[in-house]
Amino acid sequence: MIRFEHVTKRYRGTSKPALSDVDFEVQRGEFVFLVGASGSGKSSCLRLILREDNPSDGRVVVLGRDLRTLSTRKVPYFRRHIGSVFQDFRLLPNKTVFQNVAFTLQVIGSSRAFIQQAVPEVLALVGLDGKQKRLPHELSGGEQQRVAIARALVNRPQILLADEPTGNLDPATSVDIMQLLARINAGGTTVVMATHEAGFVDQMKRRVIELRGGVMVRDDRHGGYGDTSAIPSLTPQVEKGAAATAALTAVLELQRQIASAPVQPVPVLTEPATDAGTPASTPARPAASAATDVPAARQTPPQAPAQAPAPVPAEPAPLTRPIAIDAPEVDLGELGLGDIDLGKLGVADRLDERQDDEVGPTS
Ligand code: ADP
Ligand code: MG
Repeated sequence: MIRFEHVTKRYRGTSKPALSDVDFEVQRGEFVFLVGASGSGKSSCLRLILREDNPSDGRVVVLGRDLRTLSTRKVPYFRRHIGSVFQDFRLLPNKTVFQNVAFTLQVIGSSRAFIQQAVPEVLALVGLDGKQKRLPHELSGGEQQRVAIARALVNRPQILLADEPTGNLDPATSVDIMQLLARINAGGTTVVMATHEAGFVDQMKRRVIELRGGVMVRDDRHGGYGDTSAIPSLTPQVEKGAAATAALTAVLELQRQIASAPVQPVPVLTEPATDAGTPASTPARPAASAATDVPAARQTPPQAPAQAPAPVPAEPAPLTRPIAIDAPEVDLGELGLGDIDLGKLGVADRLDERQDDEVGPTS
């Protein structure tokens, strides 16, 4: 899914490489911590995965694409398969929670009807239902990071990159965010999280890749790697409400299906064939049909070897039950694309063509 082959990165005007001969492979479905002190090269690694930068030597392969050969024109399509969150959240300050998340979909040309369904679902998934109309400054830091995570996930990426996502949060809130990331990973999304905070890493008992001065000094697959017992409870919390429970269960189930499904040629970003003018109060689609909106993962053939099956929530809701979530009326026109630097938000660039989005075969 992500492969670094003897990657060295030298920044212009610096003598010592930021990364030296870094070599690792992340399989589909893994949760990997990238740890190391400040300046050890963690963010440089994540930028290379996103193709925001190129290696000086060596090769980076992501989702089956050798990023050296990926044309600039195709980079935005490639990035749609990767969600990113950052330490500083990078929310649009004068947009509501709903608008911040909707923005990602609007940028890639999703229909209003699809946005009205997908945004409440992902907000429920991250535990933010009921806060759709708040502005970022009306939220706690942890809630703001949840918005950023929702925004990263709303396009159902195969990979989630998190660069010090708990760096601005207090310890208790950081644990909440870690639990959320673990839950997302349990649903099949590959997660790579950079952090200099070793505390979480030990608790999570997941794979740890450690950098020191740009050199990989540890790739610890042992000491609990693959042991999912350390993952915090996967059962949706009752206080999040029935809608959130149903949405989370549906998404987890869906992601499991995708993770184990044979490859099927499904067009990317299939959307419900509903009129854009559908009233916002239209009930969300049944959970089972949500699969048609998440085709991206299916384009990538299953990786060998398959990961252990994700833990199942204790009491999954029947998949045939509709997810009843009220979508607020929102004027998407207010989302103005203006002068916003999409790259800084972790949002793919606006594009006119939709079909040119092939990724794979994965290696
Ligand atoms: P980390 O995320 O682990 O703190 P970074 O990847 O940001 O580490 O940085 C690794 C090294 O590369 C540091 O020495 C940093 O100063 C240097 N570096 C990062 N980005 C640039 C850049 N754009 N130009 C020059 N040096 C850089
Ligand atoms: Mg960094």
